Amino acid sequence: MKNTVLLIFMFICLNVSFAQNTISYTLNHTPNSKKITIELAFDTTSTDTLKLVIPRSAPGTYELTNYIAFISNVNGYTTSGKILKGVVGDGSFFFFKEKNEVLKKISYEVDINKMEMTLLGSFASSKIRDNYLGILGYAVFGFIEGFENESIVLKVHTHKDWSIFSTLKPSVQRNKGTELYKVDNFALLADSQLLLGDAVQVYQVSDSKIPLFVAVYSETTINIEEIGRRGLLSLKKLTEYFGYVPMPHYTLCYEFLNPVSEMHNYGFSMEHLNSMTSSLNVSKAILEPNDKAIGGIIHHMAHSWLPLRSFGTGYKPFEWQTAPIIETIWLNEGFIWYISYYHILDNKAVLQFFKRTINQAPKYIQDKSLKELSVLGSTQYSLDFRIGKNLFSRGALLAHDLDHLIQKETNGQKSFRDAILGLLKWTEENNKAFKYDEIEAIMSEYTGVDLSSVWHKWQKPLKN
Ligand SMILES: [Zn+2]
Repeated sequence: MKNTVLLIFMFICLNVSFAQNTISYTLNHTPNSKKITIELAFDTTSTDTLKLVIPRSAPGTYELTNYIAFISNVNGYTTSGKILKGVVGDGSFFFFKEKNEVLKKISYEVDINKMEMTLLGSFASSKIRDNYLGILGYAVFGFIEGFENESIVLKVHTHKDWSIFSTLKPSVQRNKGTELYKVDNFALLADSQLLLGDAVQVYQVSDSKIPLFVAVYSETTINIEEIGRRGLLSLKKLTEYFGYVPMPHYTLCYEFLNPVSEMHNYGFSMEHLNSMTSSLNVSKAILEPNDKAIGGIIHHMAHSWLPLRSFGTGYKPFEWQTAPIIETIWLNEGFIWYISYYHILDNKAVLQFFKRTINQAPKYIQDKSLKELSVLGSTQYSLDFRIGKNLFSRGALLAHDLDHLIQKETNGQKSFRDAILGLLKWTEENNKAFKYDEIEAIMSEYTGVDLSSVWHKWQKPLKN
């Protein structure tokens, strides 16, 4: 009897805590409008402390993006029926001037068209067309400070005839008009993409180890099956290299777009936990089979292993209100460039490209240590792509030197692959980011080779 009472008590507590800890997000989209509305409903919270934070960056973008500039009409709804106007704070957040009010809901508008017209790098922007809405999670979803780790229910409402696709739960069977997703926390919501509209094509690749999808919006003719074939080929090659697949499913999201202005640039792609996004000019339409054109897919898919599942300080947990300092961009990018091109695609000549890049770098880049260059790249990796290229080139050449030393010292029994698998294993066991000073020790431990000489050589500026 006692136990039964206790069990009932625990059951009530669990239910109450579930109800308290789930935030309801609703994305409302009306076709023909260039804006969307987002609503957050939550456990009652005082205006004294409440901040609605809008992301200013995202893992892997290595740039500061002022998403708050595209948000307007922030309203707070009190338990007593009042509607309060949100105002912009000192950083990337809204707050409410009225004190001692209790809010239960916030809504705001996001001007998707203004976002696309303002952000010249097409990879950072959501897109809206007459028959398409492409949403990058971090470009539209904000969060209430302190609630980042609460679970989320996302409801999507659009035109009754529009199909809804999400990388959170990819499927060729798409509901129309409304859809609902459950997400463990804000970081996973921010990492996801939504593709809405009757112009979106979805294709599931058969014979894949994990469910593999292609979701495309295109303003020209494309061959979606060929994109899927390239995705499957890339996945197979990466599986051979790493020996396992950590993603439960994977989606290749593509946009082939007529440029919205001459100033806009297309071609950068972005990695996500279980997907990649690529915004390309219509002139880059994928039509014909080409096994050599898979470098971009291999690179971005490989990021699902590293850094998305093994990472240095700053990458995760992510400081959404700023573009945080990340000291390991050379590792995130360089190690993946090295294994993608040198090993998986067997392009040995890529080393010459890396060497040329660092030798031709401007003085302000050559003068910086590896860590200093990464700190600089934390906000301007692609803005001045010489910074980005030098980061991945130095990281790739460091990886190559490590590879050479490991193979030499172990008579070919081990290689750089064991170092990268060591980093992945370490993160799995420790469930946290590695610190800068731990990287060499982790790789030395897992390969059984003292890697300190190569490590220290590459830490220095190229020219003192
Ligand atoms: Zn990359």
